[in-house]
Amino acid sequence: MLYRLREGGFQAFLVGGCVRDLLLGLEPKDFDVSTDALPEEVRKLFRNCRLVGRRFRLAHVFFGRETIEVATFRASSAPSQAEEPVLDADTGEGEPGEAPEIAEEPAEPGYAGRRRDSFDQSADTHRAFDESGRILRDNVYGNIDEDVWRRDFTANSLYYNIADFSIWDYVNGAADIAARTLRMIGDPETRYREDPVRMLRAARFEAKLGFTLDSATAAPIAQLAGLLGAVPPARLFDETLKLFLTGHGARSYEVLRRRGLLAAILPTVDSYAAAYPGNLVEQLLLQGLRNTDERVAADKPVAPTFLFALLLYGPIARIIEAMPPQQWHETGAILDACDQALREAQSRIAIPRRFALGVREMFALQPRLEHPRGRRALRVLEHPRFRASYDLLLLRAQLGMAPQDMADWWTRLQEASDPEREELADELGGSTPRREGARRGPRRRRRRPASSA
Ligand code: ATP
Ligand code: MG
Repeated sequence: MLYRLREGGFQAFLVGGCVRDLLLGLEPKDFDVSTDALPEEVRKLFRNCRLVGRRFRLAHVFFGRETIEVATFRASSAPSQAEEPVLDADTGEGEPGEAPEIAEEPAEPGYAGRRRDSFDQSADTHRAFDESGRILRDNVYGNIDEDVWRRDFTANSLYYNIADFSIWDYVNGAADIAARTLRMIGDPETRYREDPVRMLRAARFEAKLGFTLDSATAAPIAQLAGLLGAVPPARLFDETLKLFLTGHGARSYEVLRRRGLLAAILPTVDSYAAAYPGNLVEQLLLQGLRNTDERVAADKPVAPTFLFALLLYGPIARIIEAMPPQQWHETGAILDACDQALREAQSRIAIPRRFALGVREMFALQPRLEHPRGRRALRVLEHPRFRASYDLLLLRAQLGMAPQDMADWWTRLQEASDPEREELADELGGSTPRREGARRGPRRRRRRPASSA
């Protein structure tokens, strides 16, 4: 891939998170490539390529199941500050593991200006800001020594040149990586105003890498967190998944709370946690996030539906508990509470409909899992949301919020063969499984219209 660009006469660098992760001895999640080829030129080189993004135009090149993002160097809003990259070999302390070899000398020092001059583009039409300083569009192409300044953190701004395996480091990123420091490039407040999502990215890297935020980088966040209200909800949805479903969700939760960012993206979740710190519901959320992190570590699939059920458990419980107690287990009341909590969350985060419906179904199924009724229970097994609902039941049981014997019954039911399942179902007396010694014949229940099935 990189070589194809080179053969096409272009520069090609690995950049960003993958270089950082390689230096840290971590497995990169994905690979980002930076080049002086324009998106259209990239497309000509790769058949398996699609151009995406209006706000930030780039090429996606597909290799089997992998997608590699190829971005053309951007000119920065900040002045170009370095003529020469600092080639830094001093990352040894961090034991880079599979780190790429770092060259002693800059290979190709001066090639500045090629793009700038060859393209007639005016910054005014290719870059746009709104009145709060937020970048709306950033498609002014430039050189690598301009490109670096518009990146977010120094640790994310190392370029790995495939031509000679050197690392180009304009911003002392390698030293910050070795010191495990997350430092914003440029003036942090300005950079957060340009793109408030950078605050969430700071929290994500703090959680994911265990880096310490440099004090100037951390300071403006509490005050500027509200700017996230101006970010398109679809983008916040993507960021939320990256925060919570990539293996460090429990730590993300802690960091977001501490930095006042949870209040900005999920105010009802934050206010519930603030009102009832450490209560069973927050324990359930944290335990659920830890379980999710373990699933990621074990390469098992994780689901946004389950995540939002965990996050919204508190807000949903709060709405239900404001109703008269006799309604608490009614499906209608539960669904109303889910709808309200989801609506509130969706005013900030665009939770796609299928996940929102999934959350409703998970909650509506809880009473049916707690009180299974004879053979009808077997049909619940076929419900597309059964597995997620069962996982939620297990969590609730673990925390004493649902009967453990029912959770165990569902566990046995799933492991059983078909005839055994019928037996298990028939064993069900009223609402709890038959206990030792309690004899009861098979129960026939009337069929009721299964409106919520
Ligand atoms: P991850 O491990 O999640 O892939 P990453 O650092 O690679 O982390 P990406 O979202 O893949 O993050 O972005 C790739 C690179 O693009 C970043 O390392 C950073 O240099 C730059 N970048 C991404 N988003 C922004 C942003 N909002 N502002 C400035 N630079 C950004
Ligand atoms: Mg990346």
